Formats: sequence, structure tokens, C-alpha cells
Amino acid sequence: LVSLRKVNKHFGDLHVLRDIDLDVARGEVVVVIGPSGSGKSTLCRAINRLETIDDGEITIDGKVLPAEGKELAKLRADVGMVFQSFNLFAHKSILENVTLGPVKVKGMKPGPAKDLAMSLLKRVGVDNQAQKLPAQLSGGQQQRVAIARALAMQPKVMLFDEPTSALDPEMINEVLDAMVALAKEGMTMIVVTHEMGFARRAADRVIFMADGQIMEQATPEEFFTNPRSERAKDFLGKIL
Ligand code: ATP
Ligand code: MG
Repeated sequence: LVSLRKVNKHFGDLHVLRDIDLDVARGEVVVVIGPSGSGKSTLCRAINRLETIDDGEITIDGKVLPAEGKELAKLRADVGMVFQSFNLFAHKSILENVTLGPVKVKGMKPGPAKDLAMSLLKRVGVDNQAQKLPAQLSGGQQQRVAIARALAMQPKVMLFDEPTSALDPEMINEVLDAMVALAKEGMTMIVVTHEMGFARRAADRVIFMADGQIMEQATPEEFFTNPRSERAKDFLGKIL
């Protein structure tokens, strides 16, 4: 469903993504881990074309991502993204936050958009907060709204970049549980996270990145019990 071929990206002299080859199948859940600065966020941003790439090719559902223009906007709607910071519209209600995209971008009628939004808010357990403003919700609730908002665009793949790292510990699980549920429903997901519990529960594959390269990939079982590279062993030693 998502495929990257020899993707490279530099920031000035810094080679942030090095010949990245990656294929993510429909329904697959891939967890990306690796040290700070290894290029995990840049990888996510490149897949969503929030970041340009220098060379290589990114394909989503058989269509090559163009650099810009109308086609890009269309393809980008297929990719939902959830960031560390929730980025909800502060002056709009929770419900409006979720209906805005479908109405403005997809041309959905307000009635159906509201029904869709309420069903998604319910799915992530925050439908009772629909009329509130983001600031009136906890971090965990806001992040679940951000997930519902991304889902409202009916994406083919969901990208998560450290979705729980800004949350207080007691809120992490409510967000991870919503993500596990989404994974079990068959959503294709690429998740940057150091939450090994999530990786074990939901990931089909773990990818270990270092210095802009994919150093290892394996099932969570294999990777956590038997990492092959020194870099991975060293990294796991620090976080487990
Ligand atoms: P972390 O775990 O800290 O989030 P990461 O693996 O997500 O790290 P990236 O954010 O992808 O790493 O960054 C990779 C490298 O690219 C880092 O060295 C970072 O400083 C650099 N970088 C990222 N964005 C930019 C930018 N806009 N301009 C210049 N350098 C950047
Ligand atoms: Mg990052």
C-alpha cells in the first residue's frame, strides 16, 4: 500500500534519510524505533510530503506521490497523521475539529460529516466531549480526538509520530488502546513510538532506524529478544 524506493533526504550537509526502501502492505502495522535524530520523524513527514525528498520515489496505493499540486492534495488525503502535539484548533469545538476536514476538503455535507465525526469520537471514547473546546480536555482525550480527526478523512494509511510522548503516564494507555483497536480493525499503520508494549501487542513488524538508515527489521518477538546489530542492542539496552 505504501512503498518507498531509494528515498534520500538531506538537510544541508546532513544526510537524514539514506536509500530508504520500505514496503508496507495493506492492513500491516509497522512500528519504527531508533535513537533521537535517526530520521524517524523525517520519514513520516516525507511519506505525507510535509517534507520534500531529494531523490527516490514514494508510492501510495499504486500512485507516485508528486512534489506538489492538486494530485498531491488528493493523495495526501489518503494519509492520516497524528503528531506528538495534538494540534487541534483551539477555538473550535471537538466536534468541529473532526468535521472540518471532511466538509472543507472532501465536500461532505454537514449532516453526514457530523454523524461520521460522532461515530469516530465514540470509537475512541470521547463522544461525550463533543461540545467542549480542546483546552477543556485532558491530553489523552485531545490525542484521541486527533486520531478521530485523522480518521474522519477516511485515510488508507495512518502515520503516528510519537503520539504518546507528550502525555502524562496515566493517559498513555488510553491512547495506545485506541491505536491497538484501530490496528485490530485492519488499518494500515506506521507508528513511531518507543512504547514497546504497543509494538508487542499490535505490530506486525518493527523497523529499527539509525543514522537515516533502516538497520534492522523483524517481528517484535524476534527484534526484542534477539536484535542483530550492535546499534539495536545498545539502543534496546537504554530504553528497556
Ligand atoms: P527524535 O527521536 O528526537 O524525534 P527523529 O528520529 O524523529 O528524532 P528527525 O526529526 O527525523 O529525527 O531528524 C533527523 C535529523 O534531521 C536530526 O539530526 C535533525 O536535527 C535534523 N532535522 C530535522 N528537521 C530538520 C530541519 N527542518 N532542518 C534541518 N535539520 C533538520
Ligand atoms: Mg521525531
